[in-house]
Amino acid sequence: MVAVDEALELIRKHVPLPQPTTVPVNPSLVGHVLLMDVHSSHPVPAFRASIVDGYAVTAAQCGPGGKGIFPVALISHASPGEAPPLKDGSIARITTGAPLPKGAVAVVMVEDTSLVSKTEDGKEEATVEILTDKIQSGQNIREVGSDIKAGTVILRKGDIISPTGGELGLLAAIGVRNAHVCRKPVIGVLSTGDEIVQHDKQEELRLGEVRDTNRPTILAALRSWGIETVDCGIARDKPAALEVVIRDSLRKVDILVTTGGVSMGELDLLKPTIERTLGGTIHFGRVAMKPGKPTTFATVPFKESVRGDRVPKVIFSLPGNPASAMVTLHLFVLPAFRKMLGMSNMTLPKILVTLAHDINADPVRNEYHRATVTVGKDGVLYASSTGGQRSSMVGSLKSANALLCLPLVEVLEKGAKVQAILIGALQSDL
Ligand code: AMP
Ligand code: MG
Repeated sequence: MVAVDEALELIRKHVPLPQPTTVPVNPSLVGHVLLMDVHSSHPVPAFRASIVDGYAVTAAQCGPGGKGIFPVALISHASPGEAPPLKDGSIARITTGAPLPKGAVAVVMVEDTSLVSKTEDGKEEATVEILTDKIQSGQNIREVGSDIKAGTVILRKGDIISPTGGELGLLAAIGVRNAHVCRKPVIGVLSTGDEIVQHDKQEELRLGEVRDTNRPTILAALRSWGIETVDCGIARDKPAALEVVIRDSLRKVDILVTTGGVSMGELDLLKPTIERTLGGTIHFGRVAMKPGKPTTFATVPFKESVRGDRVPKVIFSLPGNPASAMVTLHLFVLPAFRKMLGMSNMTLPKILVTLAHDINADPVRNEYHRATVTVGKDGVLYASSTGGQRSSMVGSLKSANALLCLPLVEVLEKGAKVQAILIGALQSDL
C-alpha cells in the first residue's frame, strides 16, 4: 500500500511525456499548454490611433492660445485607408480607434468642443470651437506599440490558454494563426461489473442489478475540465470480454478510466487482465486513503497505428463505489491528465478552509471529505460537509466543490483550518 504522495510521485514518473502538436488559434485552442514562447511579430496598435471620439488637432491648437473656432477639414473613421494630411489651423473629426491624420499631434474630446456651424447640406460640421487650452501634444493618442511592442514575449512556454479568453485574445491581436502546444490527452470511461446496467434502462431493475452511476458522473466531471472523452460503455466480469473491451478502448484514448473490479473478490479481474493479458505494469494497486483504497494505476505498452512506436497507454482502475470513484478521479486521474497536457503543476489547486461545524475524521487513513466551500460575509472560506460520506453514497458529491484533506485524527472541531482540493467553482455569500 502506498501513501497518496507516493502514488502521485509514481504517476509523475510513469505517465508519458506531453506530445507536441499544432492547433489553429480559435476557441479549440482553449485548455492547451504552449510548448514555446510566443513573440509579437509587429506592434499593437500598428498605427497611431485616437483613444476618444473628438477632433484631431495640430500643434497650433495645443497649449495656451489653443482655444478658438476652427474649420473641420476632414473626417477619420476607424476604417482602413489613408486620410489626407491635416493642415495647420484646421482640425479633423475623429472616432475612437481611428488613425490619426498626418500632421495631427493630439485629440480633443468631443466634450471639450462645441459645434459652431454645419456644411450647406447640414450633414457635417463646418466649424467647431475648441473650449480648452490644456491640450498637450500626444494627448488621447495610442502610440504605435503602446499596447504590445514588436518583438516582445507575449506568452511563455508552459502558459495555458484559459477559457476566459485572455491568451486567445493576445494571440489573435498579433495575428498568430497556429500555436505549438502539447496534445490534449483523450480520456475513455469504462464501467465494469456483471451487475451494472445502463442508467436509463426502462424496465424495473432485477434483484442485484445496479444502475451505472459512475460513467455519466465521470464523463460529466471530465468534460467540466474541458477534456475530450470517449464513452467506452459497460464491460462484463468475464476475462475474455474485458480484454476485448479494454484493448478496443485503448485504441481510441490516451488514458482509460475503469470503475469496479479492483476489490478483493474472485470477479475483480482488472489487475490480472492488465498485468497478465495486456502485459501492462501496475505501478500501484492500493493507496492509504479513504475512500479509494483499491485505486490502481498502470501503464500498458501499446502499438500506435500512426507512428508505429510503442507509446504507453495509461489505465486508472478506480473502485466501483461512486464516491470512491469520483474522489480518486480528482486525486489521481486529473493530475495524470495535467501532466500529459504539459502543465507544470500536476495536482489540482488547494486552498485553506475553515470548518463550519465539527467533522469526524479517520485516525488511520487520510480521508478526503466531500464539502461545499462558501466565501462567508466576513470573506472567510467556510467548508460544510455534504453529509453521509460512505463510499457508496453518490449523494455525497451533490453540491461538493471541494475535497477536504483531513488529518489523521478522530474529530476536527468547528473553526479548525484544513486544506481542501478545489473540484468546482466556489460559492459566495458576499
Ligand atoms: P467492485 O469494485 O466491482 O467490487 O464494486 C464495488 C461496489 O460498487 C459494488 O457495490 C458495485 O455494485 C458498485 N459499482 C461498481 N460499478 C458501479 C457503477 N458503474 N455505478 C454504480 N455502482 C457501481
Ligand atoms: Mg465488480
